[in-house]
Amino acid sequence: MKTAVIGGGASGLMAAIAAARNGSQVTIYEKMNRVGKKILATGNGRCNYTNINMSIDRYHGNNIKPAENILNFFDLNKTLSFFEDLGINPYVGELGKVYPGSLQASSVLNVLRYEAERLNIKEVTDFEVVELRKNKGVFSIIGYTKAYEADNVILATGGRASPQLGSDGSGYELAKSFGHKIVEPFPALVQLRLKGKYFRRMSGIRFDGRVKGLTDKNVIREDEGEILFTEYGISGPPVLQISRSVIEELNMGRKVYVSVDMFPDLSKVELYDILSLRFRKISYKSIEDGLVGFINNRLITAVLTEAGFEDLNIKCGSLNKKEIYKIIDILKEWKFEVAGHNTWQQAQSTAGGVDASEVNPETLESLKTKGLYIAGELLDVDGDCGGFNLQWAWSSGYTAGYFSSTSV
Ligand SMILES: Cc1cc2nc3c(=O)[nH]c(=O)nc-3n(C[C@H](O)[C@H](O)[C@H](O)COP(=O)(O)OP(=O)(O)OC[C@H]3O[C@@H](n4cnc5c(N)ncnc54)[C@H](O)[C@@H]3O)c2cc1C
Repeated sequence: MKTAVIGGGASGLMAAIAAARNGSQVTIYEKMNRVGKKILATGNGRCNYTNINMSIDRYHGNNIKPAENILNFFDLNKTLSFFEDLGINPYVGELGKVYPGSLQASSVLNVLRYEAERLNIKEVTDFEVVELRKNKGVFSIIGYTKAYEADNVILATGGRASPQLGSDGSGYELAKSFGHKIVEPFPALVQLRLKGKYFRRMSGIRFDGRVKGLTDKNVIREDEGEILFTEYGISGPPVLQISRSVIEELNMGRKVYVSVDMFPDLSKVELYDILSLRFRKISYKSIEDGLVGFINNRLITAVLTEAGFEDLNIKCGSLNKKEIYKIIDILKEWKFEVAGHNTWQQAQSTAGGVDASEVNPETLESLKTKGLYIAGELLDVDGDCGGFNLQWAWSSGYTAGYFSSTSV
């Protein structure tokens, strides 16, 4: 059986290995000059390749049922064993994130490539598939200057996130040409642009905090971890984590806000006790000087101005309870309106994609065309930050590869 894998990313490499282990002759067609470029960029170059707290609740999409089957078929334990057999010693970091013991994404790509080589998987790089056809049971894989043939095809071209690494959404057109419906893609796991006047001054400030996405009525999603103020707004893992839900609301035309808590481990009352004692001790200092050493210097003017103080020279000792609470409200619940989000270039994942109800939920074979399988981020399945997207790529890639080589 000749299998063509379109796209040599995480899901494509996994699909190729699974199919070749089952006896298929596999060729990967990759538009970049080498396979796996995105893998090298994952986890800040360390590749957070799965998460020990695996759960279907960490995945999103219009129809999540196939994802549940697939994630159970090639699950966390199978993934860990698969990589251990190839030489990857798992290191479990914060929040259950799993990295290779080397803490190098290149290790993950290297072992996949060694295995592909051992299985005689061919790689045709610098080859962008621009058209796919099926005629009399044979697929034609068509590039700008050449065409190849295969008995079945695994479409693993990724979504739209980070097109500089290869995934520019061209897979949607290929899937559409077989009659598949595309759920409108939008960036997920991306930084948020906020309205506000202090960002230039605050840019670069990092702290461990809690961030909430809010509409006028509800908290949409919240998360905790390292937050970074930037020139345009806000970034950091918890911001990426809430971004999908925030953008979904924005896309529905709603006003969305982000609220930042810079002291998530302290209640407002505890913070009041600390600040009132502090201000009593240094009652002779101005409120501006009084916060030096308590929060980042570049935050002080912004926090006090937002809290409603016009004169920053008033003395700490003159503040009453209500005024101290005004400062606390900013430190615990600084609210900004969301203006938008960064572009596909900065996004780490794609929400939306090929409608997942149009593939067999056990095998990922297209329900439109026999012999066509769809895997990875190209499908309308996306995961949370923390190793869940790569787990989906491994699980869906393995499933598509395995079943493509067992079907006739
Ligand atoms: C900066 C960054 C960091 C990330 N970090 C993590 C992390 O630590 N943990 C985690 O779980 N997830 C992470 N992700 C997400 C994760 O990398 C992706 O979800 C995953 O790689 C998707 O795999 P894929 O195979 O579906 O698509 P991709 O990895 O995008 O691969 C698709 C491949 O198809 C090729 N291709 C596209 N169109 C064509 C065509 N027409 N013809 C031929 N080839 C084509 C592309 O060049 C590409 O090589 C990160 C993403 C980014 C951008």
